[in-house]
Amino acid sequence: MSQPTVQLVTVLGATGSIGKSTLDVIARHPERYRVYALTAHTSKEALLEQCRTHCPQFAVLDSEADAQWLQQALNDAGLPTVATAGPEALCDVARAPQVDAVMAAIVGAAGLLPALAAAEAGKRVLLANKEALVMSGALFMDAVARSGATLLPIDSEHNAIYQCLPSEHRGGLAKHGVRQLLLTASGGPFRGWSAEEIASATPEQACAHPNWSMGRKISVDSATLMNKGLELIEACWLFDATPEQIQVVVHPQSVIHSMAAYDDGSVIAQLGNPDMRTPIAYGLAWPERIDAGVETLDLFQVARLDFEAPDETRFPCLRLAREAMQAGGAAPAVLNAANEVAVDAFLSGDITFGAIPDVVAKVMAMPYPGQADSLERVLAADRWSREQAALTIRQLTA
Ligand code: NAD
Ligand code: MG
Repeated sequence: MSQPTVQLVTVLGATGSIGKSTLDVIARHPERYRVYALTAHTSKEALLEQCRTHCPQFAVLDSEADAQWLQQALNDAGLPTVATAGPEALCDVARAPQVDAVMAAIVGAAGLLPALAAAEAGKRVLLANKEALVMSGALFMDAVARSGATLLPIDSEHNAIYQCLPSEHRGGLAKHGVRQLLLTASGGPFRGWSAEEIASATPEQACAHPNWSMGRKISVDSATLMNKGLELIEACWLFDATPEQIQVVVHPQSVIHSMAAYDDGSVIAQLGNPDMRTPIAYGLAWPERIDAGVETLDLFQVARLDFEAPDETRFPCLRLAREAMQAGGAAPAVLNAANEVAVDAFLSGDITFGAIPDVVAKVMAMPYPGQADSLERVLAADRWSREQAALTIRQLTA
C-alpha cells in the first residue's frame, strides 16, 4: 500500500469524552494524522496539557481571559501554539483551508455553528455532535451536499448503520432494498427501575451509565432515553429515513451497535466492544481501517445478547422526539433546546429527573410561531424554546 499523506485534524471539544478518545486514536498514527487545532469551553488546564502532547497550531477557549492565560502558559512552555477565543474562532479553525478533517465533538447547540462551518468548507466531518443535526438537519445535509463534504457519523449507532448500508445510500432506504433500520439502545441505568424510582433519581445515578463512559449531558439523555430520541432524528437525516422506518431495540449489552434490515430478510449488524475509539477510527480512516486500540470482541465472554421493546410510558422522551420529527419544521430544534435547559436544571439540582420530560412536553405543547428554513430561524427557535423552558422550570419550582 502507498504511504498515506498526513491529514490535518481540528478537534472541537477536545477535552471532552469524545475529544480525548479522538486524540488517543490520532496519537496511535502519527504517520497519518496531525492536530491543527484543539478547542475547549473553560477547561484551560486540560487544554494546555493537550497542547503539550499534540502541539497544535491553534487552541481555542470560550473567554478572552482564559485564552490570555493559556497563551502565557504556552509561551512559558516554549510552545508555538496560538490561543484564541470565542465562537467565531471555533468556526475559523473548523473551516481553515489547511484542515482536512474536523471532529465535531462539542456538546449541545453550541456545537452547531462550527460543525456547519466545517460542512460548508467541504471537510471530512466526523460528526459526534448529534444536536447539530437535530436542530438543523435539512440545512446541515444541504451544506454537505453543496460543498461535497464527507460526512461520517461518529455516534456509535449511526456509525454502525453506515457500516451496514451500501456505500451509496442517498435517495431513500427503499431504493437500496433496505426495509428498516434497527437502532439499538442500552436502556440506560434506569432500565429496570419503576416509574417512582426513576422520578426521583439523582444526577450521580443518572450519570452512571452501565456500558459507556460519556459526558454528563449525554449520560442524562441516555437515562431519559432522550438520547435515543435525538438519535432517531439524527438517523432520519443521515440515512434519508422516516421515523416509521426506524425501530428502537433495547439491547442491554451494547454489543450490537445497530442494524440494517433488508427486503430479502437479511439483517446486517455491526458488533464490537462499547468503545468510541472504534467509530472514531472508522471516521478518521474511512474507507481504510486502522488500529483503534480496541480489543476484538470476546463472544464467549459476552455469552448472550438480549433484546426488548422500549417502554415509552416510563421513558416518554423517546416518544416526544419521534413526535417532534414527525411534526417537522422547528419542532426538533425546540425539543433539543428545551431538553438542554431541563438537563442543565436537573444537573444543578433545580428540578427532579422526572421533571425533565415534563418540561420538554410543556414547551413542545406551546405553539411556536416560526419556521426553521434558515440558520437564523433555527437559532431563533432555539432561543425561544430556552426562554419557554426556563419559564416552565421557574413555575415548577416556585
Ligand atoms: P463532554 O461533556 O465530555 O465534552 C464536551 C466538550 O465540548 C468539552 O471539550 C467542552 O469543553 C466542550 N464544550 C462544552 N460546551 C461548550 C461550549 N458552549 N462552547 C464550546 N465548547 C464547549 O461531551 P461528550 O460526551 O464528549 O459528547 C460530545 C458530543 O458527542 C455530544 O454531542 C454527544 O451527544 C456526542 N456523543 C458522545 C458520545 C460519548 O460516548 N461520549 C457518544 C455519541 C455521541
Ligand atoms: Mg449513540
